[in-house]
Amino acid sequence: MQNPLMKFMTFIAALLLSLNIHANDSPPLKDDHLDPIRIYFIFHDDIPKSKRDSIHGDYIHPFIEEFQSITGRKAHVVFDEHIAPYSNFKYRSSDREKVIKEWRELAWQYRKKRNDDKEFRISRNDRVLLITNDMINGHPLFGGVGGIADAQPGRAAIASLDFKQGVGHELGHTFNGDHEDGEVLYNGWWCETFMLPPLQLRSNCMVFSDANRKRIKDYVDSLY
Ligand SMILES: [Zn+2]
Repeated sequence: MQNPLMKFMTFIAALLLSLNIHANDSPPLKDDHLDPIRIYFIFHDDIPKSKRDSIHGDYIHPFIEEFQSITGRKAHVVFDEHIAPYSNFKYRSSDREKVIKEWRELAWQYRKKRNDDKEFRISRNDRVLLITNDMINGHPLFGGVGGIADAQPGRAAIASLDFKQGVGHELGHTFNGDHEDGEVLYNGWWCETFMLPPLQLRSNCMVFSDANRKRIKDYVDSLY
């Protein structure tokens, strides 16, 4: 059994450790536990295993970093895969309106399921993004539809891995980002900000233009 002095010393040590952890934290991001910004990323079954490991670093992380720095709020990220009927959703179609209508309905059912399973309470700020291996229609070299969002702002979207900025672009729409405010920046080479519809020759800046940063921040601020 510990003597009282030992107990006290252990308590002080724990207190110091806890103070130290807080001292090293960057300023806390504002957030609302009732209405968190939660983004569900569902990997479609058609994405080969070899591609899955790099999706977070190449596609998701740049968007999340940018989003959090713009808004000062934390984005709660949840990954999911191999979960029918969501991860095997038939997204290849020439009818993009029909596809996004069906995905919007499935996205709602998905949020409801996670709520009913007592995992994550439904928030009005939830987003559900399906990440797919292929485009909805067409081909990256010849044109077509590489991604789609249900509305601007909206809650459900689909993005193909064919375009590096696809995840940021479609989620950008759901947070009120707009094509018109997309820009080409020059930093030794031309790059496109997230909301500009992509051209093959230019690289991706993986950031939003200042005008879209303002749109997104204003929109998110209006939610709280
Ligand atoms: Zn777009």
